[in-house]
Amino acid sequence: EITNVTKVVHQVYNDFEMIHPDFTFVLDDDVEKEVDVQIYRNHLEQVLIILLDNAVKYSTKRKEIHVTYERSERNVDIAVQDFGEGIAPDNIDKVFNRFYRVDKARSRNKGGNGLGLSIARRLIEAYHGTISIESSLGYGSIFQISLPILTGQEVEILEEKRDMAETQRDQKPLA
Ligand code: ATP
Repeated sequence: EITNVTKVVHQVYNDFEMIHPDFTFVLDDDVEKEVDVQIYRNHLEQVLIILLDNAVKYSTKRKEIHVTYERSERNVDIAVQDFGEGIAPDNIDKVFNRFYRVDKARSRNKGGNGLGLSIARRLIEAYHGTISIESSLGYGSIFQISLPILTGQEVEILEEKRDMAETQRDQKPLA
């Protein structure tokens, strides 16, 4: 499936802005052209929801979240930054493990089970992307994802394939 990343980022961002009026959201996107990526729309949505949900959950003092969105020649980079509790260097690699939670007692009342980030990483890597963290304990975190962009030619090929599959399906006799 070809997904317009620009639309999905805006949609999830707007949803969070509406659901969390106590937060200040800042969107920094200087993408003039819309960007197509080969990913299921639901999968991209799910990853963004996991990152934004965490940003909300782990922001105790300063309730501000920045979403940055930019493209380079081959990739689209999306970052979610919070100014919350941050993650200690020793724990950064572990947060992607299934069921891992930094502060078990304290996070338990936040209702998570430690699966969100492991799912996000598996999804992004399945699409040949990367997910990484920059964080500083007490100052906040930046979660970055990078996904390869489809070239115009790749979009054409995929669309052709889809049209062919549709034609074949329509031509199939009923019985
Ligand atoms: P859920 O499965 O509901 O997402 P969770 O938030 O505990 O639960 P993950 O999203 O996998 O699970 O996150 C794992 C751990 O990483 C969290 O328990 C938390 O300790 C830490 N973490 C994740 N995001 C942030 C963040 N933005 N700031 C600080 N710590 C974070």
